[in-house]
Amino acid sequence: MSPSDDTPQTQQPRMAGWHFHPVLPLKISPYFILPVRLTEMLRWLVRSWLPLTERLLFLGLAILSWVYLTPALELCVTISASWIVPIYLKNLGLMLLIAGGLHLYLYRFKGQGRSLKFDNSMANKDGRKFTFGNQVRDNIFWSLASGVTVWTATECTLLWLHANGYAASMSYADNPLWFIGLFMLVPVWNSSWFFVIHRALHWPPLYKLAHHVHHRNVSVGPWSGNAMHPIEHVIWLSGVFIYAFISCNPLHIIFSQHLSILGAVVSHSGYEGLVIGQKRRMKMGDFFHQLHHRYYDCNYGTAEVPLDKWHGSFHDGTAEGAKVLKR
Ligand SMILES: [Zn+2]
Ligand SMILES: [Zn+2]
Repeated sequence: MSPSDDTPQTQQPRMAGWHFHPVLPLKISPYFILPVRLTEMLRWLVRSWLPLTERLLFLGLAILSWVYLTPALELCVTISASWIVPIYLKNLGLMLLIAGGLHLYLYRFKGQGRSLKFDNSMANKDGRKFTFGNQVRDNIFWSLASGVTVWTATECTLLWLHANGYAASMSYADNPLWFIGLFMLVPVWNSSWFFVIHRALHWPPLYKLAHHVHHRNVSVGPWSGNAMHPIEHVIWLSGVFIYAFISCNPLHIIFSQHLSILGAVVSHSGYEGLVIGQKRRMKMGDFFHQLHHRYYDCNYGTAEVPLDKWHGSFHDGTAEGAKVLKR
């Protein structure tokens, strides 16, 4: 998700209804604004990756995953449980590690109390509207049964396409600039795809059919990120099939899916940052999307691409921003 201003929030009065929020109004990416602002673009890019961000973390996990946990591409030529099951177990393990680990730290053991928590209330309250009548059980069920399954299916399909030469595979040695540059473009594509499909999911028939499962979560937690109906997971993760049409490496595919799936875990954590030992270690929650969970008709995309601004659905978090949106 997008980097946010690290200026202490206490420098401006807190908006009513929130326990914590980043400095407002929210900023959006300078990438597509004219005239071109090169310094701002560079600053945004650097802060999206460094010093420790979820993008860097997921790239590291993607490298580990590709090198040590993904079966050799030669094995993926034929459809077989011998390589699909290990990929399913790898994805299941990653989901349990990131979503389970964050949930235990933030909500079970209250590792950082309410420090940097967006909502006044703690997330994950029981509620009859949820599957099994409980938010955590509901969220874990949809994340594992739907999320990990659709994630594995799309990943395996793309690996099969690459293994059989139906998609153009490339390595770092083939084109170093494109190899590295594509990692910078993956978040831009994810953000654009997310806006388009998310706006479509708010079309009443699709909302009633699928997206309402995700929106049961007004107060969100790590497991809420993938609490989605399978139809929504299929639509969301089908964006990765762009990598069947452009020259890329399986590492780009794994990274992209980490951002889509594990990124949703982190961005729905309910906390703006991870605090360990009284120190803020990493940005986590996405206030931009947190506003969508509270107000519904705004912020369908992310701050990475200003599609909401162009579409007239951007909520910058301020009372004035809400009035503009209402108009
Ligand atoms: Zn959400
Ligand atoms: Zn929505």
